[in-house]
Amino acid sequence: MSITQEDRVWQTVLGDLEISLSRANYVTWFKNTHLIEHSDEKIVVGVPNVFIKNQLEKKYLKTIADSLQKNGFSVPALEFKIQALAPGRAGRGSDSGMLAAQKKAGRPTRLLEDRPHVTSPLTHTYRQGLNEKYTFENFVVGAGNELAYAACQAVAAEPGTKYNPLFLYGGVGIGKTHLIQAVGNAVIAQRSNARVVYISSEQFVQEFVDALRFKKNTDFAGFYRGADVLIIDDIQFFAGKEKIQEEFFHTFNALHQANKQMIISSDKPPRDIPTLEDRLRSRFVWGMSIDMQNPDFETRCAIIQTKAENKDMELPADVVDFLATQFQTNIRELEGALNQVIAFCEMRDLSPNLAIVSGLLGGARGRPKHLSARQIVERCAKYYQIPLEDILGPKRDKDIVVPRQIAMYLLRSELHLSFPKIAHELGRKDHTTAIHSVEKIEKEANLDPTVRTALQDIRDKLYV
Ligand code: ADP
Ligand code: MG
Repeated sequence: MSITQEDRVWQTVLGDLEISLSRANYVTWFKNTHLIEHSDEKIVVGVPNVFIKNQLEKKYLKTIADSLQKNGFSVPALEFKIQALAPGRAGRGSDSGMLAAQKKAGRPTRLLEDRPHVTSPLTHTYRQGLNEKYTFENFVVGAGNELAYAACQAVAAEPGTKYNPLFLYGGVGIGKTHLIQAVGNAVIAQRSNARVVYISSEQFVQEFVDALRFKKNTDFAGFYRGADVLIIDDIQFFAGKEKIQEEFFHTFNALHQANKQMIISSDKPPRDIPTLEDRLRSRFVWGMSIDMQNPDFETRCAIIQTKAENKDMELPADVVDFLATQFQTNIRELEGALNQVIAFCEMRDLSPNLAIVSGLLGGARGRPKHLSARQIVERCAKYYQIPLEDILGPKRDKDIVVPRQIAMYLLRSELHLSFPKIAHELGRKDHTTAIHSVEKIEKEANLDPTVRTALQDIRDKLYV
């Protein structure tokens, strides 16, 4: 069977699923799947990672089989194989996929108070620290956070049975606290008397110190060792604190042995936390470590739209675009800026537009007005020591392509040019090249220190 026919089978199934599942579920589990093989004996579907594979095997076999049958295809054995999608072959829904959870976000989430009232003071205490505003429903899933989202959902569905501990790490303001709290809230939503503890590592240290001081160490240990789900946020603060690490080591072992779930977040991977005892380090990698990335441009747009909608504010596309370009790494800052815009417009009864918003926020960044597109392109050529005509010309060698992509990225981040305009500045006809280049560099800036340094150096020279 030819590829196109094969694809059609899976595309049909995806079409069904897209209608029947919530947006968040569809995007999380099916967005990057594709058909590898289709015969009378079996269908092999490529999936991006082991979480998705497990989840599809466990939860979606029947849904997929039903869809095949309904559409008149035979229903042979179904297999999932981990295989990334070739670049440029994004699955259905990837374009608008970043709008995941957006539809659901407007729906009020159930408050803890709505749940059956639990009188035990113990369970009440065990919930301390959880903030009910952090849910899976109002988390926007997209490139950068989807793996963490999937793992957190898997853990919430069956705490303690897999990925224990679950270790999330990544930069500031990218949704770590939101996700790990969402796990706690989801666990309590399913089982109202679950003992879920959320605590920042700083608070943990403080409580430990107090317990020692007031000689109540056993209460302290007992409390944490009695949890069904223990969530510790920002564990990097344990660095260098030997006593705490020792205490936590014992807590960890007790919980792990009892198959209780631990979820840990940090701003860096265990191996990079200085003075973390080796024995703790080795424990942390027993389970699953996930590197959370900055959300990409589309995801940031979806986050902005979702948050604005929740506040009944409609934002024009160019404003969304502007905000998503200005705030690339920290969603907390992005949220802050958005709130500022909303407050400003509400107080004056104005509809937000680009002029207002860039006036309000643009100045903060101190961007000189005189900077031109050509200057940026010239700077890039100079930094990489290649002739300007090469960067503007047709050559496709790697040492020309990368500087060109960097230039496109900077035209976007520094001047907020539209994609067609960026393409034009670099002598390209097709604006999708500009979109891909900007996204690629954005990703690499997360992963590759040389790219980060290059961007920093070029930027520094632009603004002297
Ligand atoms: P971190 O713990 O990684 O520093 P937070 O979880 O505190 O970041 O996130 C910062 C803010 O951004 C929070 O208000 C959070 O709700 C919001 N946020 C981050 N990522 C998302 C997302 N994907 N969807 C919706 N809100 C998000
Ligand atoms: Mg946090």
